[in-house]
Amino acid sequence: MNILYRSTRSDAAPVTASRAILQGLAPDGGLYVPTAIPALEKPLGELAGLSYRDLAYEVMRPFLSDFTEEELRDCICRAYDEKFDDPAIAPLEERGGAYYLELFHGATIAFKDMALSILPHLMVTSAKKNREEQEIVILTATSGDTGKAAMAGFADVPGTRIIVFYPKDGVSRIQERQMRTQRGANTAAVAIRGNFDDAQTAVKRMFSDPALGERIAAHGFRFSSANSINIGRLVPQIVYYVYAYCQLLRRGAIAEGEKINITVPTGNFGNILAADYAKQMGLPVHRLICASNENRVLTDFFAGGVYDKNRPFLLTSSPSMDILVSSNLERLVYRAAGEDAEKTRSFMEQLSSEGRYELSPEMRQAFAEFIGGCATEAENFAGIRELYENTGYVIDTHTGIANAVYRRYAKETGDTTPTVIASTASPYKFANAVLGAIAPKEAEAILAGGARDGEKTGELADFTLIDLLSKLSGTKEPAAITDIRTAPIRHSRVCDIADMPETVLEILGIN
Ligand SMILES: *Cc1c(COP(=O)(O)O)cnc(C)c1O
Repeated sequence: MNILYRSTRSDAAPVTASRAILQGLAPDGGLYVPTAIPALEKPLGELAGLSYRDLAYEVMRPFLSDFTEEELRDCICRAYDEKFDDPAIAPLEERGGAYYLELFHGATIAFKDMALSILPHLMVTSAKKNREEQEIVILTATSGDTGKAAMAGFADVPGTRIIVFYPKDGVSRIQERQMRTQRGANTAAVAIRGNFDDAQTAVKRMFSDPALGERIAAHGFRFSSANSINIGRLVPQIVYYVYAYCQLLRRGAIAEGEKINITVPTGNFGNILAADYAKQMGLPVHRLICASNENRVLTDFFAGGVYDKNRPFLLTSSPSMDILVSSNLERLVYRAAGEDAEKTRSFMEQLSSEGRYELSPEMRQAFAEFIGGCATEAENFAGIRELYENTGYVIDTHTGIANAVYRRYAKETGDTTPTVIASTASPYKFANAVLGAIAPKEAEAILAGGARDGEKTGELADFTLIDLLSKLSGTKEPAAITDIRTAPIRHSRVCDIADMPETVLEILGIN
């Protein structure tokens, strides 16, 4: 079976994996989906004996059907190496009766590293395979973590440029500092006056603007996307769900074939979609629990089949999940529509014209394994605190949402299925908010002290908070944090949404 990729919005001829990776978005504005989901080729008991890298090869190979074994193994080796500070790459921690799958041991201490450390290599390999001469320009809208992880992944990769747009007031200070200090002559970070959805919409518009495309092509460039819509990000994310299952098997925590639940703190719907692909490959999964913060569009969608983004956009302490339009959901809608591109296109057109669409009950049957749930700020903080007090384990505010949603689900349903919680960021990345949950008085005193001293900036207070987190959690500060304490600021651009295309041209030296 040779898997190809077709668009969710038209019946145009399917393309190879390498083409889909280069392209990012399909020319008609749709998302690429595999023509079939392959089954795992070996029994889970056998896969359980493999290293992360070897397992990655087994899981990804059928999806990347036009890559040779050597090409794919080479990409995997370059990605999953000493950049990760844990030899397991994605270790699994059992705490308080749940399994936290730590996806934050890469270069930028958030789960985006899992896919973005391999995507640049998949892309460069794809360019070579397709005799692509033009320089690849990655345009990315980020709600915080993607931006830094993409910049780190692409920094100084020959034949590539990367430009990241982030909402000026929608990311944490640490996240912003991480982006603004990124090295690499081919990297640029731009703050925009708007929110994440504005940035994402504007980036999508640039991709589908033929005049802009021609303009940069004349200078030897072509756009591509590193956002989670790229199948080169989706496919590597399937690996760690299979890996988590294998680790449970190895520990004897489950028997081969026994089902698990997976809970994912969700924003753009990429991470949880990868879990769903793992299930379709044959991973025994009972429930996929889609956890949202107070921007609960997906919770309402899974409860009633109505996707409605007509509501206030809320800034929360889990900013990477502050999203009202979850792009990857289109792939699930396509499946629910019986792979009918015409129907999918019409739903997406309704979304952009009216801000909502509604699926029929029959369509919703196609994803009955999904459950949505959301947690308020207060529930999130209470859950983080409780876990810390009971077990000494500290989780970040995104993982906290999944934690709170799962704990409530387990209590309400009595479901005792072993449950993996995707732990998507290191608590160090959101130390401010995390300490607000586990040690509010001390955190407040540090912030107040910072303000009083005058000479101490907010940033210095941030680093004092990090020291406190290290002390309370008994863990060592990750290298990614140590690095930004002293790294110089390299990126200072700010622009309006309307000026984003001009800014891109300016960065590329086109005028
Ligand atoms: C991106 C991100 C998420 C959301 O993941 P999606 O794939 O967009 O659903 C959750 N937590 C953290 C820390 C993230 O960076």
